[in-house]
Amino acid sequence: MEAVRCLIIGSGPAGYTAAIYTSRANLAPVLYEGIQPGGQLTITTEVENFPGYPNGISGTAMMEELHAQAARFGADIRRGIVTACDLSKRPYKVTIDDKTEIASETIIIATGASAKFLGLPDEQKYAGLGVSACATCDGFFYRKKVVAVVGGGDSACEEAMYLAGLASKVYLIVRKDYLRASQIMQDRVQNHPNIEVLFNTNTLGLFGEQFVEGAHLVRTIGGKEEKFDIAIDGFFLAIGHKPNSDVFKHYLERDENGYIKTTWGTTRTNIPGVYAAGDVADPNYRQAVVAAGMGCVAAIEVERFLS
Ligand code: NDP
Repeated sequence: MEAVRCLIIGSGPAGYTAAIYTSRANLAPVLYEGIQPGGQLTITTEVENFPGYPNGISGTAMMEELHAQAARFGADIRRGIVTACDLSKRPYKVTIDDKTEIASETIIIATGASAKFLGLPDEQKYAGLGVSACATCDGFFYRKKVVAVVGGGDSACEEAMYLAGLASKVYLIVRKDYLRASQIMQDRVQNHPNIEVLFNTNTLGLFGEQFVEGAHLVRTIGGKEEKFDIAIDGFFLAIGHKPNSDVFKHYLERDENGYIKTTWGTTRTNIPGVYAAGDVADPNYRQAVVAAGMGCVAAIEVERFLS
């Protein structure tokens, strides 16, 4: 079994930043990229709020630069997904792709989070046939068509804006009577001529012969329900994310939503030498720059732990 001093799991801003710091500290880190190399930023559009990019940068380009920066200092970056782990004693053991076992003195978990779905059977039925959780991946297929985006946060507004540049019309389906997105995103969405916001509205189901052709909706105002249908070609989910922490659940303390618990102000988990950084451990901020900061903190903690 291969033995390493520092294993980093995940390749978003947290994982790569941890790799930059630990490789510069001569810890010869091994990083496994996970299901989505580059993480969630590779399926976003422009990143406008990461310090140092006054003109914005595409999420994919930013992650390629972080990858290159980590590789430059010698981080061993590999394809693979963690499928099992044994954190009962040091060195901790992690299984990659159900076959390769690695023993590591320390682990930095930076596995991020994945998109949530509403849980309607129709989401499964029309998966890849009009249902998507990634506007930047699939928006291209909806040029000059009509689409709906579900959610009222920054992600939903960003996806609606992106799709509004391609589609002829975008419905934004919001369950409350307000958007929770930042003011700048609310203003952009509400002033866009191609976007119609449907407040107080929930989705009951989808319909269509083979592909999505429409959605059954219900609007509730003052306890009164009004059911109606809209004709759409695409249905996009942007209702938040679930932390990718299930594989560690037998060992690590998590909150009720699955976020790995860390000691306040640190990235320490309940197991010495195991750290959690980025969205997998951050129910509050979930920002690329915060994830990068947490990756740095975790790397410094690893260095101190090992010495
Ligand atoms: P949020 O948790 O902020 O928003 C989720 C949205 O989905 C809310 O409007 C919520 O409604 C709605 N929702 C959740 N579950 C359901 C459901 N079952 N049915 C209908 N609607 C539902 O998630 P985001 O992904 O938008 O954002 C996460 C974090 O990332 C935030 O901190 C955000 O600011 C940040 N972010 C920042 C960006 C930027 O700065 N450029 C871009 C994207 C995200 P309700 O309000 O009723 O709970």
